[in-house]
Amino acid sequence: NLKKHFPIKNSIPFKKVTQHVKAVDGVSFELYKGETLGIVGESGCGKSTVARLINQLIAPTEGTVEFQGVDLASLNTADIRSARKSIQMVFQNPYASLDPRKTIEYLIAEPMVIHGIGDEAARKKRVIELLETVGLSDYHAKRYPHEFSGGQRQRINIARALALNPDIVVCDEPVSALDVSVQAQVINLLKDLQKDFGLTYIFISHDLNVVNYMCDRIAVMYLGKIVEMGTYEEIYSNPQHPYTQALLSAIPKENPFDTKDRIILSGDVPSPVNPPSGCAFHKRCRFAMEKCAQIQPQLDSLTDTHHQVSCHLFEQTK
Ligand code: SF4
Ligand code: MG
Repeated sequence: NLKKHFPIKNSIPFKKVTQHVKAVDGVSFELYKGETLGIVGESGCGKSTVARLINQLIAPTEGTVEFQGVDLASLNTADIRSARKSIQMVFQNPYASLDPRKTIEYLIAEPMVIHGIGDEAARKKRVIELLETVGLSDYHAKRYPHEFSGGQRQRINIARALALNPDIVVCDEPVSALDVSVQAQVINLLKDLQKDFGLTYIFISHDLNVVNYMCDRIAVMYLGKIVEMGTYEEIYSNPQHPYTQALLSAIPKENPFDTKDRIILSGDVPSPVNPPSGCAFHKRCRFAMEKCAQIQPQLDSLTDTHHQVSCHLFEQTK
């Protein structure tokens, strides 16, 4: 039941009303060892905030993040450090996430320095090993971020994330800023590393093609909530939530003139400051009924599978 509400100041003079952006508003899911869980949705739906909550870069307003059954908020300082080591992150923008004044060697070794792992010689050796793991070499160690392309920088970020031998890597739109041709290389690298090191991924993206290629299970988010969740087969071949159906219908087809199945959503994503009552999607939903504006649907299993949907259309059929 993870929630993150960011306070924003109200601009009405002399009235101290604080409003909140409900970036994440009651999200629950499990992450299984060795899987890749995709989180998809339009920008502003709360995907990156979920990533930051899991990585403990920000604290939840409500709800808990549990790792191996333990609430991360209940840990003492030493245990928090070790939990931090186990959950690493690759950020979206490879141009902004590396300090331009530091060498690659420094940047990759930094997490080990922070966590007091190895002496300088051991760390140097490990940096070379990590560079080779992500398809670079010792030749790159003494160079600076600006000497690298976007794809190479993302490889460096991945090496940095792997430096502490994590169990989980949260990838927040790791290829969105890259050229399409480079995207495939980085995605294949992530897949290989998962196999080699038994990694578990949370893979955040707005690109359904990338998610399709990468993920075992998918959670679809809309306005701070998960509206549908299932295996990638369930989501791609049998999408149930009207929002998921619209998202999938927007994937470009081989024949660009074939638009007959395209579902066009009216209006924009509403503001997360005052989300619509009831089902937050009701103003854009082509199946909206009277109760959709009043009662918030709950995320619930469709049948006896793991496929879950949050929509009133499916409540009668259960
Ligand atoms: Fe549409 Fe109602 Fe389902 Fe929301 S609950 S997705 S408005 S049918
Ligand atoms: Mg984001």
